Amino acid sequence: MGLLSLGTPLHWNDAQKYADHIRSHGIDQFLSIYRARKDQQKDNLLWGDEIEYVVVNVDKEKQKTKLSLRVFDILPGLQQPELDYNAGKSKQEPEALWRPEYGRYMLESTPGVPYGATFKDLVQVENNMKRRRQLAKSVMHPGDIPVTLVNYPRLGCPNELLPDHEPNGQACQSMFVPDEIINPHARFPTLTANIRRRRGAKVEINMPIYHDKNTPKPFVDPTIPWDRELFDHDKEAKEGAAKPDHIYMDAMAFGMGCCCLQITFQACNIDEARRLYDQLAPVAPIMLALTAATPIFRGYLADVDSRWNVIAASVDDRTKEERGLEPLKNNRRVINKSRYDSIDAYISTDDTYKDKYNDLDLLYDEDIYKKLMDNGVDDLLAKHLAHLFIRDPLVIFEELLNLDDEQSSDHFENIQSTNWQTVRFKPPPPHSNIGWRVEFRSMEVQLTDFENAAFSVFIVLLTRAILSFGLNFYIPITKVDENMRTAHRRGAVTKDKFYFRKNVFESNNNKNEEDNDAFELMTMNEIVNGQNEEDGFPGFIPLIHSYLNSTNIDIETRCKLTKYLDLISKRASGELMTGATYLRQLVKRHPDYQHDSVVSPSITYDIVRTADDIAQGHIRVPELLGDFDP
Ligand code: GLU
Ligand code: MG
Repeated sequence: MGLLSLGTPLHWNDAQKYADHIRSHGIDQFLSIYRARKDQQKDNLLWGDEIEYVVVNVDKEKQKTKLSLRVFDILPGLQQPELDYNAGKSKQEPEALWRPEYGRYMLESTPGVPYGATFKDLVQVENNMKRRRQLAKSVMHPGDIPVTLVNYPRLGCPNELLPDHEPNGQACQSMFVPDEIINPHARFPTLTANIRRRRGAKVEINMPIYHDKNTPKPFVDPTIPWDRELFDHDKEAKEGAAKPDHIYMDAMAFGMGCCCLQITFQACNIDEARRLYDQLAPVAPIMLALTAATPIFRGYLADVDSRWNVIAASVDDRTKEERGLEPLKNNRRVINKSRYDSIDAYISTDDTYKDKYNDLDLLYDEDIYKKLMDNGVDDLLAKHLAHLFIRDPLVIFEELLNLDDEQSSDHFENIQSTNWQTVRFKPPPPHSNIGWRVEFRSMEVQLTDFENAAFSVFIVLLTRAILSFGLNFYIPITKVDENMRTAHRRGAVTKDKFYFRKNVFESNNNKNEEDNDAFELMTMNEIVNGQNEEDGFPGFIPLIHSYLNSTNIDIETRCKLTKYLDLISKRASGELMTGATYLRQLVKRHPDYQHDSVVSPSITYDIVRTADDIAQGHIRVPELLGDFDP
């Protein structure tokens, strides 16, 4: 989750004075990288996945689970092989890299070294993921397990933490979660507090409740202490922050404490990275819907299936003025989105790009735009960066205010890494042998490594097909935003339609231009498996199979990859459930469930046990995985 520097973090009151300093040096740092690396060619395809885990303590005797806040006890042990290798003490490449995440109960793993461009690399992914899960588990406290649930279903309910703590800490001031839930590194409590301070209030998250037959209507959450007035900020709920018929959450942990599956690619040069960024942007909402696995928040069934909006609201540091609720007085502009959201503009200058696709009125910092243009950066890239740079730096370390802009990219990364968007364009770190990269960020983590591998492999193969066939997925960016909203709906995969482009082969120029750019609402099945009509969109999976046919892949490898593609295909057709549908069904069929939307401790215990059993291959769930053997 971005950079981790040590030092004295500044309170927002002080940090904001340095915002322009950080922005201005951040852009100088970008320019230094840009000058040095813009012409770099022929980097190899390297890629890696990132899996985030929730660590849960399972007490089999009491039949009770709790979130384990003990990840920092085990992290150094997990990281030792990497440290030894980097220090030259060991010749053994690490099997995995481990990073902390926002939650003190979270872990993040990536393969020890990036995967390469071969098909053999693709078939190793699943075993590598399984090995990582095993490694994590092997060092944990007895009873603690890493699970790949997007969130802990009862996060924010009483008596769910190990060790336990009272809510209402200084950083998040939440009535539900204590500060001890946050990664103890100074960056994270500061980020939490400064988002709240900048916004001028606690973050406000409301997800619609899933109305079951015994759920009161309207639903007014009885677990909110409506009458208690111990702290000023507890009043916010009563004063309208907590909406009826919604699950109310008041802290960053509810969002940034969620787990995802991300893929990062190294492109062969900057132009390819920009092209991949653009082509993957319309794919992001589609994959959010297909991987949806988050039907429960704070002990309640929600009427949404995915995490995205919760995280967006959980880090929304915009003031009332910036949200358009009050006239502009102290702030520079009204901002349409949270820092965590879908992208606002395409950035590639290849000849399939047309200005009309960037149909959102892009907000950007004029001075930064001018500086970039004056330094030879083209319009689209300059606008992209000047757009990211409308945000303030949230965490500034006093000792790191003045840096050598030729040597460091800390100030650039400060802004870049707190723009958490669906895709991210990543310049090379200074003086590294890493190239221009793109990160695909929308997917939700899946229960099993089989699924996580399948989705990773799918995205990698899709990028190969995009590059090999020169595919053109452009649709207006506002339609991508509409797809993001659709992707959240309960059961979106089978019930809703998404905008997608019909003709993706740019060479097909025998029709008039309007026709070539046509897009329409398609079912998930049509987007993934193809439209059943002449001139229709061929579908991701058929495109990938055509790509594989054009290579000299051996039969065994092809069979293995096909198994992954089949999973994606069956998810899209509705033959197999999404994780969200599966988990919702698990709750609804649980003997303790009262049909009142409440996900009790005993149901949570069974969810966690089941999630682990499925991931370990101890139980089979054909409705989720078909006859695939995880
Ligand atoms: N956990 C966040 C998510 O679910 C992503 C954090 C990160 O950028 O690593 O999207
Ligand atoms: Mg992460």
